[in-house]
Amino acid sequence: MNIAIVGGGWAGIAAAVALAGKADITLFEAGRALGGRARKIERTDARTLDNGQHILLGAYRETLGLMQKIGVAPEAHLRRLPLRIQDASGFCLSLPRLPHPLNLFWGLLTARKTGWREKLAAARWMRTLKARRFAVPPEIDGGVAQWLDAAGQNGVLRRHLWEPLCLAALNTPARYACPRVFAHVLRESLGNPARGATDLLLPRGTLSDLLPEPAGKWLGERGVRIRPQERVHVLRPRADRWQIVSGGGAEIFDRVILAVAPWHLPPLLAELPNAPAIPQDAEPIATLYYDYPENIALPYPLLALCGEHGGWLADRGQGVLAAVLSGHGAWEELTDSALASALHHDICAWFFHPVALPPYQIIREKRATFSCRPHLVRCPQTLSWPGLFIAGDHTLPDYPATLESAVRSGQNSARMLEERPD
Ligand SMILES: Cc1cc2nc3c(=O)[nH]c(=O)nc-3n(C[C@H](O)[C@H](O)[C@H](O)COP(=O)(O)OP(=O)(O)OC[C@H]3O[C@@H](n4cnc5c(N)ncnc54)[C@H](O)[C@@H]3O)c2cc1C
Repeated sequence: MNIAIVGGGWAGIAAAVALAGKADITLFEAGRALGGRARKIERTDARTLDNGQHILLGAYRETLGLMQKIGVAPEAHLRRLPLRIQDASGFCLSLPRLPHPLNLFWGLLTARKTGWREKLAAARWMRTLKARRFAVPPEIDGGVAQWLDAAGQNGVLRRHLWEPLCLAALNTPARYACPRVFAHVLRESLGNPARGATDLLLPRGTLSDLLPEPAGKWLGERGVRIRPQERVHVLRPRADRWQIVSGGGAEIFDRVILAVAPWHLPPLLAELPNAPAIPQDAEPIATLYYDYPENIALPYPLLALCGEHGGWLADRGQGVLAAVLSGHGAWEELTDSALASALHHDICAWFFHPVALPPYQIIREKRATFSCRPHLVRCPQTLSWPGLFIAGDHTLPDYPATLESAVRSGQNSARMLEERPD
């Protein structure tokens, strides 16, 4: 059997690893290298950075398992930190290494800059959620903000914990983010009894070191043909097989997995009758890399920014700080230099003595992830045509766009392909 996998992001890689050695596999990738939206980029000053600062969680079970499968030791490449949400307002919530749910309740009760009443209300809300298996009440029809209102979560914890967590996890502002997906995120993180599930994992090197580069080598050794810089233009049904038309010509495959972002799917499906409508709303992310003097370091490797634009600040070592702004917001209207100056001003004022604006680089991903809104209809992983499967971070109904959802979707598509011999 010959299989085409279109898209060499984390979903396509996960599918290829699952199927390697079981079939004749060709992996088409439009870009120069594997990795898609989570990969390294070369800079003119020879330093290597990522297309965007990424944070993984201890709960990313399948992603960490995939790394291990291809011979990458997660602990060697990821710095593991207990969850701590801390910002310049003095707010700090830190989860101790205690068994679940003691860690969560202790973290809530010892949180700084918030009162007892609020802490108890939040602890009670989490307990109720858990008892209801994180089901959102059916009357909640709007965004996460409506759900927080209904749950009485309106104070400091809302502003400094729930809303930033929602924005970071769903890349969608709480006022219109999907409560059901946020509830799922809470279940998998704060509500997850697995040891270390809430830990933050920060890449020590680049994202390409974690999976795309070693996976490329691993796949090549197992006979998978990787064809970089080869965009697939369209897919055509041919009897019970598929014709793929790419920059390299037209070829026939028995099975196809499309592992591309939602905005790259419509042209590929253009010649199929009754192709499903794929939601196209996207949210942006900007990553601002600052090259501060090497002796500059943050008080904790990951801090929340509590200024006008929100966001997070990660310490990449050697004076390199990465500020991340997620989701649609007023920051999109600012020029690069205005944005860089505004955040630099806040960072200095909050975290260390003032220094001059250092060299910086801004990467704006206009379509970083799909917009995770209520009632969003996801693209199913199997369509009405046999032998065609869809993977990608947008396909799993309960998940936001993350590395973990991409990997899980890729593994699912491989499993479905093996289970459906037609
Ligand atoms: C700036 C930024 C920050 C993020 N931060 C986090 C984070 O902190 N934590 C987290 O878990 N997730 C984060 N994410 C989300 C995460 O990166 C994505 O969910 C994940 O990488 C998506 O993987 P994918 O394989 O589904 O899609 P993609 O990465 O989009 O892969 C699809 C691949 O298909 C290729 N392709 C497209 N069309 C064609 C075609 N016609 N022919 C051939 N190839 C094609 C593309 O070039 C691409 O390589 C972030 C994303 C961005 C952009």
